[in-house]
Amino acid sequence: MAWFSKTKTLKAPEAGVKGASQAASLWQKCDACGEVIYTQDWERHWNVCPLCGQHDPLPIRRRLELVLDLDSFQELDGELRPQDPLGFADTKKYKDRLRSVAKNSGLAEAFVSGTGLIEGRSVSVGCFAFEFMGGSMGSVVGEKVARVFDRAFELRVPAVTFSSSGGARMQEGVLSLMQMAKTSAALNRFRAVRKPYVSVMLHPTTGGVAASFAWLGDVIIAEPKALIGFAGPRVIEQTIREKLPAGFQRAEFLREHGMIDAIVKRSELRQKLGQLLALLS
Ligand SMILES: [Zn+2]
Repeated sequence: MAWFSKTKTLKAPEAGVKGASQAASLWQKCDACGEVIYTQDWERHWNVCPLCGQHDPLPIRRRLELVLDLDSFQELDGELRPQDPLGFADTKKYKDRLRSVAKNSGLAEAFVSGTGLIEGRSVSVGCFAFEFMGGSMGSVVGEKVARVFDRAFELRVPAVTFSSSGGARMQEGVLSLMQMAKTSAALNRFRAVRKPYVSVMLHPTTGGVAASFAWLGDVIIAEPKALIGFAGPRVIEQTIREKLPAGFQRAEFLREHGMIDAIVKRSELRQKLGQLLALLS
């Protein structure tokens, strides 16, 4: 175990020290179990700790790779770009914020959508990118979500969404809140073709996304320990003036109380989705 005796290389990298930063990217510490894990192992397990099963966030491109058949994804509506209808500014102008987030994430918006195959079955699919402004839902995200359902309607195929979102995008004010109604209405139209809608809630799914289409799935799946809810626990405790039970708003608690249907490990997600779609469509 000579590797592990070299504790020096496992320390956090110091700025400007090339060797140290290479070592840090080779190994990393799991937030849940505290064990040092080999980064390549962690990546091979789709960002799940091979020792304790902690599900870390998975970038959107890897998520699509995980759930869709090889090379089957065709991105659509990628040309839609967020606007700044209110000319909003907080500590930074919304326009500037969008520009810098787009540059850092390599994404145009917090939602990527299109068509693809899951275990050989055509689906209309959309996935949130939490790395883009906390996966918040502004008017373009809302439009893209609505189009996932519109496309599923036109093509007569199931719809599948993967949500991880902080909720409404406050920089777009009421226009952002309107997306809850808009996406729910689009979903309702899609119901006419009697194809399933599977909603997968990832960590975390909160606010206006949880309170609209994400919780309207025919089947609602969550990843282990995902935080799912509308308002944060502190706000609820202050409002109802009661202490909340342990594990409140976690996937396991919600399944126990009938709010979601199943918790599926990332390694089994594609296979379970394939089974579901085979049974329901
Ligand atoms: Zn771990």
